[in-house]
Amino acid sequence: MAELTNTGETVQTGERNRDASWQRARAKIIAEQELCHLCGEAVDKQAKAPDPTSPSVDHITPWSQGGTDAIENLALAHLGCNIKRGKKPLDEVRRTPYSEDWGLGF
Ligand SMILES: [Zn+2]
Repeated sequence: MAELTNTGETVQTGERNRDASWQRARAKIIAEQELCHLCGEAVDKQAKAPDPTSPSVDHITPWSQGGTDAIENLALAHLGCNIKRGKKPLDEVRRTPYSEDWGLGF
């Protein structure tokens, strides 16, 4: 599988610049990853938005909080999971189901 190297292209924080590098990064994530990083289930790549099971690319550090479009900050997620996460910190989203089981009141 071809490896797209980090070419050093950056998107300035605060600019909603959805240019070619973003499109390329997004396509790479969807092509190479299989599981939703939020719920851990497989993503149906045949599904199309607005189907909640369709693939989307989530920012690990949210765009609004200074996250970039760098490959390292992107991960595959169900569209539905991505929308449900919104701008919540990742550790909070991932912790939720476990903390409910534990009943520790996090
Ligand atoms: Zn999911």
